[in-house]
Amino acid sequence: MESSSQSTQRSMPGGSTDGQRKPPPVPYHSTPFDYDPDVLCFCKLKAARLISWIDTNPCLRYYRCRRRWSGEGCTFYQWHDPESDKYMKRLLLDLRDTIYDLRDQNAILEQQLKEANGMNDVLVTESAEKSASLKKLQRKLAERDADAVQQAMPRKISAWNCSCFIVLVLALLFGLVLSLVGPV
Ligand SMILES: [Zn+2]
Repeated sequence: MESSSQSTQRSMPGGSTDGQRKPPPVPYHSTPFDYDPDVLCFCKLKAARLISWIDTNPCLRYYRCRRRWSGEGCTFYQWHDPESDKYMKRLLLDLRDTIYDLRDQNAILEQQLKEANGMNDVLVTESAEKSASLKKLQRKLAERDADAVQQAMPRKISAWNCSCFIVLVLALLFGLVLSLVGPV
């Protein structure tokens, strides 16, 4: 473990630099206080052990006063892991940035999916309304067809009656003519 005096030559997270403002690219495997033996800060409290993701010291564990984030506490910090070599730092930063890029892309895709789902809901509602409207029109059409059939029926019957009447009159006339002519 690196002492506090040695670590002052290395950049600490939480300054003006980069990645530490974002959430860590990978979830922590333990809580900040799940470690042994205890490391005490200047306040004589167990210090929180965190992981740095800043450009200068990526993926290194360090200790910091637990009350630092509330604006109180002390300025204690101490590195737990030794500094990585140049190659390892570059590799870790590339992996970190790849995860951040994928998260950004995922957020965009989730937003697009949300918008597409919203549009789909609108289309489904419109489709249901049009379907209901179509069924209503079909019912009206069926009712009109039924009315038209009912109105056509008396006309057919009356045409048939008229034909029968004409045949009957012709038959009577024919019979009258035969009776007037009489047997020869
Ligand atoms: Zn402290």
